[in-house]
Amino acid sequence: MIYDLIIVGGGAIGLACGIAAQKANLNYLIIEKNCLVSSIYNYPTNMTFFSTADRLELGNIPFIAHSDKPTRREALDYYRRVALDYKLKINLYEKVEKINKNENIFELITSKNIHYSKNIVLATGFYDIPNLLNVKGENLPKVLHYYSDPHLYAFQKIIVVGAANSAVDVALECFRRGAEVTMVIREKQIRESVKYWVKPDIENRIKEGSIKAYFEAEIVEIRENDVDIRVENNIISIENNFVLAMTGYQPNYAFLENLGVFLSDDDRKVPFYDQNTHETNQKGVYLAGVVCGGMETNKWFIENSRYHADMIVEHIISK
Ligand SMILES: Cc1cc2nc3c(=O)[nH]c(=O)nc-3n(C[C@H](O)[C@H](O)[C@H](O)COP(=O)(O)OP(=O)(O)OC[C@H]3O[C@@H](n4cnc5c(N)ncnc54)[C@H](O)[C@@H]3O)c2cc1C
Repeated sequence: MIYDLIIVGGGAIGLACGIAAQKANLNYLIIEKNCLVSSIYNYPTNMTFFSTADRLELGNIPFIAHSDKPTRREALDYYRRVALDYKLKINLYEKVEKINKNENIFELITSKNIHYSKNIVLATGFYDIPNLLNVKGENLPKVLHYYSDPHLYAFQKIIVVGAANSAVDVALECFRRGAEVTMVIREKQIRESVKYWVKPDIENRIKEGSIKAYFEAEIVEIRENDVDIRVENNIISIENNFVLAMTGYQPNYAFLENLGVFLSDDDRKVPFYDQNTHETNQKGVYLAGVVCGGMETNKWFIENSRYHADMIVEHIISK
């Protein structure tokens, strides 16, 4: 069997591509290595989206939430219902390990099978690979690049690294659940991009000293019971139980490069694709969702990238 389209990744945008393919009567398959919308599943337990529910909708299925901004739990319920209502063809817990191209047909070697397709969409997101601190001790179990629940850190001395939305949310939530929070921040201040309704909260907690913050500072070494921080030209050591490195994530570049997708040669490492069709420099290879932004991981969201699906499918059927 040769599919018209295989979509790699069953996140929100992979589902959007599946819906568009189904509406166009394409013979398609979505392949997801974890559970459905696994990035959202792995978001902080108490997370609330900054988008209103209507902006996260797919396939004209209404997203009704308890307040205007839905929670992670509501989003999981919603995207399950979308997959169910559309009876999307999706293989879960199957990882795409390698993609070869023979003539004009792609061969996708997965953890369970081999599939063939005329076109592929990479909707693989960026949440699998954290940006590392690259310091001694980063491999200790107390250093975490993903955050789930503040209860784990109650009455513990924690360091939160970063100054963007995730770091700020983690710092505030843990502080309010009894953690002793220190932020280590490379920049001079909390990022301007932090949600406008949250920024004054963190700035005031820092000002009043409830949350300690070292600005223009970086961790230089992590040990079992303490951490060394460079502040200006001094090294200070503070007692510590956990380090939560909220330093962002990056797309799987090895995967893109193996397929021969060009990347911009600046720090942004943006993969090349046609803005109108989302086809990359490799014929038949399309990009959808947040992977399109490369290291600019705050450029694409569900609300603005769900439209990629229709552009891709329109191009495929026009060929
Ligand atoms: C805390 C937080 C809050 C956010 N709030 C909002 C918001 O309010 N509004 C908004 O629009 N966006 C928000 N976002 C961003 C939004 O979650 C992402 O834009 C969205 O998840 C991107 O969808 P995607 O399908 O492109 O990628 P993902 O959701 O990351 O999906 C990619 C999928 O590909 C799978 N995959 C990767 N490699 C393979 C492989 N080799 N084989 C098979 N499967 C593979 C992964 O397991 C994953 O399930 C938020 C993000 C975070 C972190």
